Amino acid sequence: MEIRKDIEAQQVALQDKTDYRNFPMVPRVIFGRGCFDQLGDILMSKRRHADAPFIFLVDAVFEGSSLIDRIPLLFIDQIIFVPADEEPKTSQVDILVQKIVHDFAEMPSGIVGIGGGTLLDMAKAVSLMLTNKGSASTYQGWDLVQKPAIYHVGIPTLSGTGAEVSRTTVLSGPQRKLGINSDFTTFDQVVLDPDLTKGVPKEQWFYTGMDCYIHCIESLNGTYLNAFSQSYGEKALELCKEVYLGNLDAAESRDKLMMASWHGGMSIAYSQVGVAHAMSYGLSYLLGIRHGIGNCLVFQHLEEYYPQGVSLFNKMREKHGITLPTGICESLTDSDFDTMISVSLAMEPLWENALGQQWRKKISSDKLEALYRKI
Ligand code: NAD
Ligand code: ZN
Repeated sequence: MEIRKDIEAQQVALQDKTDYRNFPMVPRVIFGRGCFDQLGDILMSKRRHADAPFIFLVDAVFEGSSLIDRIPLLFIDQIIFVPADEEPKTSQVDILVQKIVHDFAEMPSGIVGIGGGTLLDMAKAVSLMLTNKGSASTYQGWDLVQKPAIYHVGIPTLSGTGAEVSRTTVLSGPQRKLGINSDFTTFDQVVLDPDLTKGVPKEQWFYTGMDCYIHCIESLNGTYLNAFSQSYGEKALELCKEVYLGNLDAAESRDKLMMASWHGGMSIAYSQVGVAHAMSYGLSYLLGIRHGIGNCLVFQHLEEYYPQGVSLFNKMREKHGITLPTGICESLTDSDFDTMISVSLAMEPLWENALGQQWRKKISSDKLEALYRKI
């Protein structure tokens, strides 16, 4: 009788519970300067046989560099250089998948992405689309992917986006810029070698690093915040401050920014980003402005929402002599503003996280237009 009462009580308690998300994490990660050279050993156990190659999708910026000689090619493995001049498109993913299917009789043993957020997203998407039929654009959204991806490895060469830990791959499709969010998207293995970020140009280092900083600010100031997100967000924020306002030596700074990116990504996994990201999506959709710089362009004008965050951002910008471009929205038409505003307002969870459930009463098209006009 007692036991039965216990079970009934537990069932009632379960019904009252919120539906918590059960999301995947990267199961294997290696960290350390030079750890890239262990990649051959890591991949060995995942090689199915000699006719099932590893495909390395590598940022074209590394073509002809010494990094290429360190890629552990075996049998019929292939390197495909992918330019990161533009953010990834669903059509590009479809073409890569067709090429791989055409070039090899067997399904590859795995896909390895080497580069910044663009290449990491490309690798995730290609590994998913090798097992799921149709165009990548049909899977843009939440949990539309039916089958697990093939084994995929992410190797960041630029720190900040958190794409190495996230369960999404952000793609521009024919209709929208939206991620393929799924439990199968997350990498099976990540290789964090801070030395790979050595050659990043200063402005890019700043913009992509600020993506991480803005993840922290938006997560820590959002209504979705919980102890899980907070624990990662606070650590990432502390590391960003050390990197951008402290006096670390270059190697230490690379180590810490790589870990900031990881923690920043983990922080938003269980919460959400906010106003800067919602508005930056509008800029990116209309004008093709890249994620990192787009966030900075918006964030500088968000004192009303993130006063301390913006003030610290300005200190970091000044310390590193970064001048953001101006006049970006100067010659846009009314219809251009309408497009950006509607793309931005469609990011409902971001607004809800930033402003609460009543967010529609707190933000208007006029307000957004006024903010865009400052950029
Ligand atoms: P990126 O990958 O677009 O690269 C920016 C530039 O840096 C490119 O020109 C690239 O060639 C260069 N670069 C990269 N590594 C370098 C190195 N070591 N040395 C010299 N140059 C190097 O930049 P990003 O900011 O890392 O990524 C932006 C992309 O990430 C966007 O497409 C965005 O949508 C996506 N993103 C994804 C997630 C996610 O969770 N999946 C999160 C945030 C952003
Ligand atoms: Zn971001």
